Amino acid sequence: MDIKDCIFCQLPKERIIAENEHCLAFHDLYPVTDKHTLIIPKAHRTDYFELTPEELDSVNDLIKQQKEKILLEDKNVTGFNIGANCGEDAGQTVFHCHIHLIPRRKGDMENPKGGVRHVIPDKGHY
Ligand code: AMP
Ligand code: ZN
Repeated sequence: MDIKDCIFCQLPKERIIAENEHCLAFHDLYPVTDKHTLIIPKAHRTDYFELTPEELDSVNDLIKQQKEKILLEDKNVTGFNIGANCGEDAGQTVFHCHIHLIPRRKGDMENPKGGVRHVIPDKGHY
């Protein structure tokens, strides 16, 4: 893919809420929950598995930094889901690597048991 056609390579600067050496963070445009944040490498990488060790470190640092910021900003946040869809068959729709950081609040769904297992409906609960 040409990076000029990639929405995350073309992200307007004002959307960026944090950055470090190799990564950026911004709010998801269609949030699953309030403060749903995406962490991406600055370089165009298709998915998580293309990240270099240095980018992985930067991703991890920014995830942790944003997690702390969200906890300070919103005392109702009591958990997080972290996830990456890798490949169309796994649900990926934007083919510039991004890690979802999804804040969770008690009661935001009736029975949260299983968390990311819900990627396949009916397989979340075991
Ligand atoms: P995925 O399905 O894992 O590829 O997720 C793509 C994510 O990008 C979705 O959660 C979308 O809501 C989000 N998204 C799509 N377009 C934009 C955009 N222009 N800015 C921010 N987030 C976006
Ligand atoms: Zn890109």
